[in-house]
Parts: sequence; C-alpha cells; structure tokens
Amino acid sequence: MAEPMEPQERLDRIVRQIAQNMVAEVCSAYVLRADGVLELYATIGLNPTAVHNSALRLGQGLVGTIASAARPLNLAEAQKHPAFEYLPETGEEVYNSFLGVPILRAGRTLGVLVVQNEAHRAYGDDEVEALETTAMVLGELIAAGDLKRLSTAGIELDLTRSVTSNGRALAEGIGLGHVVLHEPRIVVTNLFNEDSDTEIERLASALSSLRLTIDDMLSRREIAFEGEHRDVLESYRMFAHDKGWVRRLEEAIRNGLTAEASVEKVQSDMRARLTAVSDPYLRERMNDFDDLANRLLRELLGEDTASREEKLPPDTILVARTMGAAELLDYPRKNLRGIVLEDGAATSHVVIVARAMSIPVVGQAKGIVALSENADAIIVDGLSGDVHLRPQSDVELAYAEKVRFRARRQQEYRDLRDKPSVTRDGLDFHLHMNAGLLVDLPQLDESGAEGIGLFRTELQFMIAEAFPRAEAQETLYRSVIEAAGKKPVTFRSLDIGGDKILPYFRSGPQEENPALGWRAIRLSLDRPGIFRTQLRALLKASAGRELRLMLPMITEVGEIEQARAIVNREVQHLSRFGHGLPTRLRLGAMLEVPSLLFDLDALMRSVDFVSIGSNDLFQFLTASDRGNPQIAARFEPLSRPFLRALRMVARTAEAHGTSLTLCGELAGRPLSALALAAIGIRDLSMSAAAIGPVKAALLATDLAALTATLDAAIENDRGPSDMLPMIRDFADTNAIPYS
Ligand code: PEP
Ligand code: MG
Repeated sequence: MAEPMEPQERLDRIVRQIAQNMVAEVCSAYVLRADGVLELYATIGLNPTAVHNSALRLGQGLVGTIASAARPLNLAEAQKHPAFEYLPETGEEVYNSFLGVPILRAGRTLGVLVVQNEAHRAYGDDEVEALETTAMVLGELIAAGDLKRLSTAGIELDLTRSVTSNGRALAEGIGLGHVVLHEPRIVVTNLFNEDSDTEIERLASALSSLRLTIDDMLSRREIAFEGEHRDVLESYRMFAHDKGWVRRLEEAIRNGLTAEASVEKVQSDMRARLTAVSDPYLRERMNDFDDLANRLLRELLGEDTASREEKLPPDTILVARTMGAAELLDYPRKNLRGIVLEDGAATSHVVIVARAMSIPVVGQAKGIVALSENADAIIVDGLSGDVHLRPQSDVELAYAEKVRFRARRQQEYRDLRDKPSVTRDGLDFHLHMNAGLLVDLPQLDESGAEGIGLFRTELQFMIAEAFPRAEAQETLYRSVIEAAGKKPVTFRSLDIGGDKILPYFRSGPQEENPALGWRAIRLSLDRPGIFRTQLRALLKASAGRELRLMLPMITEVGEIEQARAIVNREVQHLSRFGHGLPTRLRLGAMLEVPSLLFDLDALMRSVDFVSIGSNDLFQFLTASDRGNPQIAARFEPLSRPFLRALRMVARTAEAHGTSLTLCGELAGRPLSALALAAIGIRDLSMSAAAIGPVKAALLATDLAALTATLDAAIENDRGPSDMLPMIRDFADTNAIPYS
C-alpha cells in the first residue's frame, strides 16, 4: 500500500505527472477561493515561490477567464490573447502556448488547470480531453476537502463559501437543518478504465436498458394521454437516442474514462455551459437531459435507495431541481424541516402538499442543487424566499432565535385552541380551516378550527396521475367526514381550470385566458359525467349526515339552479337504488365573480349559504392575475372599493338571513381579518396555521370602535383608499397582536 501523502505533495505530484504525460514545461493548478480569487496551489515549471502567493480574480487574465466562462482556452500564442496578463512573480514570459481547462464538479467551477510550452504548438483535441479528465480528479480532491488545510488562514475555499440565494417563498415557515439532495449526486470514484471496449459495452447495455425503461413509462396507462407528462418523456426518449450524446460519451471512454466517469464528464461540461443559457424553454430541456444522465449513471452503478431513509438526518432540508408530490410523501414527515426547489411555483403539486404538511418551501432558487452538498447546513426562509447555504454563524444564530420565537408564539396559539373567538366587546366569530388533502386533517384539532370551511376537492385530482375513480373520491370524502367528527365540512365541487391544471385532462383547444375560461362550475355543467360522479361520491360518503356542498365560480344565479337540478337527480337515483342519503343537503355558492355583486338579492334567495372567494373576486375586480408576482403587491385588498363591495355583500346576506363566510387568503391575515370582522363577516375560513394568529387578534379587539373608524373611512371618498395603515394604527394603539 502506498504511504498516505500530504495534500501538497499529492497535488505537486499530480501536476508533475500531467506535465510529463503532456510533454509540457509547465503545469499549474489554481483553486477558487470564497473571496472570488484563484490562488496558485501547485506548479511545475513556474517560479515555486509563487505557489500560494500568486492570485487572479475571476475574469482576470487567462486563468480568470477560463474560470468565469467555465470553458477551456487553447492558445498557440498566449500573450496575444486580449485577456493575457503577465504576473511577474511567476516568471512565465518565456512560455508561448497555453492550454487551460476549468476544474468542474457538478457544474461548478472549483479552479483551473493549465499546461504551457515554450514552443508555439497547438494542443490537440485529445490533449484537451485528457486535461479535462485530470481536472475532474482534482475536482473530487477539492470537494473531498483535502486541500482545505493548504489554504491561507481565514480564507475559505469557494466550495465552503456561504451562499444566500433569493427565491420565491412558496410555503410559509422557517426551517433550519441539513441538506439532503433529493436526487443524490452520484459520486463516481472509479475514473479510469482498464479496457475501453468493455466500458463501451457497459455503456451500450446501460443505454439500452435506460431506453427500455423510458418506453415502458411511456406505455403506462396513466400517461398514455396527450399532455405534459408525455411530452417530457418523449423528449427523454429523444435524448436517450441522441447520437451526439452517445458519441461524446464513447469518446470520453476512448480517452481513458470508465463509462460512469464519461457520463459525469459529459454532463458536467454540459451543465457548466448551460449556466450561460437564459432561455427558459432550453433550460428546462437541458434539465431533462441532466435528469436523464443521472438515470443513466444509476443504471451503470445499480441503484441504492433502500438505506436512504435510515440515513436521513432528523432536520432534513430537501434540495431538488423539482419534485413530484408523491415523491415528497415518500419521506417521513418527522424528519422534514423544509424544501428548496430550483423550479416550483405556488401551484406545483409538491408545494400544495408541502403547504398542507406545514413544511416551508422556497422555489426558484436558481443553481441551488449544484451549490449544495449533502449534509451542508442550510436555512430555508419561507417568509422572505431566502435560502442560506452554509450560513455564517451570526445568520444561523439570528434564525435560531426566530424559530424559537415562532415556537413560543405557536405555544400561545395552542393555548387559545379551545377558547371561543369572541371580541373584547362580546361578538362571536367562527374560524374554520381550508383543506384539500388527507394530510391536512390532523390540523383540524391542532388548530382549534371549528370545521372545514372550504374543502378543495380538486387537489385530489391535481396530484393524481389520472382522473380519480368514483370509489377513490368516495373514500377520500368519507375519511374527511370521519376525521372531522362532529365538526362541519363544506365540500366545494371540482374547481379545475385557470391555474388548477390536470395534466391528464386536456379540456379542448388551448385557451388564451384560462382564468376566464372553461373552468369550475362551467366545466361541471358542460361535462355532467364528471360532475355526477363527484356528486354521487359526496352523497354516498355523507349518508346519515348533513352534506354542505359549495359551487365554485358562479357567474349567474341560473347556474345554481342547473346544478341543483343535477344534484336532485343524483339524490333520486341513489334513493331509487336504496343507498343511504345525507340527512340534509345545504347548497351554497362561492361569490368570486364580480357579476354576482349586482344580483345579490337573487343570489341570497337561491342558496343556503354564500362563501366569498376573495382570491378570485379580488383578481377579477382589479383585473390583476393572482399568480403574477410582478403585480402581487400592487393593489391592496383592504382598499375602499373592495371593502365597499364586501360590506355590501355582508349587509345583503344579513338582510336575507343567508349565512356568509369568506374563504380566501384574506381571512388568514390578522389585520385583514379584523377589517372583515368590522364590516360584518362573522365566519372566516383560512389555512390552519392562520387560525391562532387571527383568533389572538380578534380576542384583543374592541370591534365596535374599529367598525366606527373603518365605516367612516370607507364613506370618506376624499380620504386615502388604502385602509391598511389605518387598521394597523388601530391595532398598534390598542395592543392588538397581528404578526
Ligand atoms: C378564492 O378564490 O378565494 C378561493 C377560496 O378559491 P381558490 O383559491 O381555490 O380559487
Ligand atoms: Mg377561487
């Protein structure tokens, strides 16, 4: 066995060997430090005293240019290149030809490896390949932390640098923990082959089983529809047969790599080049390619997922490019503290599920996968959208304090759980929670919600691979009802369309404005087959109990009558066949399309209850897309026009004795909830996490005083339209908690 070698000695030996193999007079290795400087770590041929003393910034000189572009430079006359910069301490003026390659690992540049010759020579493609391959070995050495001891005291290597990435806050909360890469980076340790032909055979057989797996996935029933799933897999199939890719892989093997190292190398080159591509479509396609390369690596190495769960740290923060909802549910909840995604939108299925499980999520954290290593410390701030990777200790301390503070608040809210929501001046309120999945249900008791004010039935459809069958729907509804016990549940019929897309259901020609399109009740009335299946499942699951059924996106009162006729037919059908029926059926409508504001009397007369969908009502009243972050904060819901509209609804509902709820996000913000309370909305339905804060605010409020102030402000159309500052002032003056 060889003696263990000191890192500097090992590095020196590597550069010496490269120089020999490539018949070069100079070989130097530069390592990227956290301060953006490339430090000379080893050289043969340049002045040895320059080692650890000579440095270039990213982008400076030839070495800095290679590092920032992540591309090789092959120059017969280095000094003629515009980026050439002479560093006197190295004594390199005698060398003319220059070949430098980036040291890459998982798409990140960790340093630069250079060879130089006195003679004017052009390095061949095979020499470029060979140098890139050796650079990969150096990349592993740096990533393994072997060179850390060589760095100047107080200066970290780039690899261990703290990184703050600003993404989008998609699910609220703060998580502190350690990185678990959802798709663990496969570390290729066996780099050099003994026999290229055997490796090419291994590659060919791995490629053919990869192609078979993809064909198999494509032929599976649940994706045999047209749709995005299919498109992605089709592009995987295309890539898996891509001749250019296979050629580059084989070339790398012929240059001495093992099959897995060749995949890693070709993928790494590709990833590094990709950082410059900004076109979102191309990037997405390249991500698919990345995914495919990982699958190929797993084919070559044999997968090892069985022991993953045991290795999961108790404070796991999942880091992934993207993730399916089902994949998230495979992780044990107790270990999860947060999720960071490179993709992800508020409507992604994984985000919907994470929110239901109260796991903070930050999405759109660009490049986070390549920057992270398993077990790195990481903080996910699902309030601001910040992700702190390998945080500095002061940042960590500040967040730990924040988490403790939030935990204390949570305890205070738990203490309020069984208290009724009564204002200081004795007005009763009813706080319900919004739900849509089974994983939501434990929160019904934990939050102290009086019931489920909105059960979004479409979520079951959104996270499924195909239309859930009637039995699956009935089973879910029954479980919800059982879990709720005596607490009431309001089921909303299917609200798909708009931003709620079912990948397996292409409803017709592409819509230019899906939010205004064929969706929700419109779809249910036009496709009674889908609607009736759901109604039957709901009626059967509610046998012997009250069924509260709510219709989404009602635009005209006539739609309620049409829906009621269908419901009645289903009731008759079930009763004819001797099925048990609900003891009472209460039919309600969502008020989320502005046209209904001008037909309120008829609306109130035709239903048992109305629930205001403030998310959609606000989007349509202000003509501002609810999912567009660019305009998200532009208009304030607590403004005179919107509050006037809501107050008019509350007054009309009261005059008719029709029960009224508001179930949009507005209900869950304590200050907004106070405003809603002040204009007369007594039933609010919100996310489970918001119940404690809203209750705490209501308990501390003298509502008559707030109502008088707010009413006066709403009437005064010469005063400011935005009521939020006034409500905040009121809360501050009266010591009402609202954070
Ligand atoms: C709303 O529009 O306010 C609402 C509660 O429904 P959703 O958010 O599901 O559209
Ligand atoms: Mg809505």
